[in-house]
Amino acid sequence: MKCWKDQCENKLEFTCSCTNPPTYSCDEHIVAHMKTASNSRHLPDPLTISPNPETKRALIDCLHKSLSNLYELRRKTVLDFSMQIKQINEKMKIALESFDDSIKNQRKIISQIKTIKVISNGSKTEIDEMLVSEPEIAIKLLKDSFDIFIDQTSL
Ligand SMILES: [Zn+2]
Ligand SMILES: [Zn+2]
Repeated sequence: MKCWKDQCENKLEFTCSCTNPPTYSCDEHIVAHMKTASNSRHLPDPLTISPNPETKRALIDCLHKSLSNLYELRRKTVLDFSMQIKQINEKMKIALESFDDSIKNQRKIISQIKTIKVISNGSKTEIDEMLVSEPEIAIKLLKDSFDIFIDQTSL
């Protein structure tokens, strides 16, 4: 592609869509082209945007700075989430251990209660009433007395 002006060897800077295919022009001849008669309007567009080297360098510096900020932010985010995941895992471990302890205890209590031989005269005891109204306390009392019973018998 060459400038519309005959013999012109200048660098192409503009394209004008007044013709099809578009007319190309150098910087020097674009004004002259605009003054030529045309069937359709002259609509010149710069072919390239060439900022001066200083602007280019400033722009690249700015982008590099932004890039290193992004890297730093990314690193911090990974670190932050890793910490949170670690904390959540620790909390879950503690919670599960506590559940496991409770489950173990309750299973032990259930099997202990099953093996208790209640010696009573057939009438309802205080424990019987409590098992209905306050089962947790009753179970604890039963368990405690059973533990004492075990301690005594194992001697
Ligand atoms: Zn030209
Ligand atoms: Zn034109």
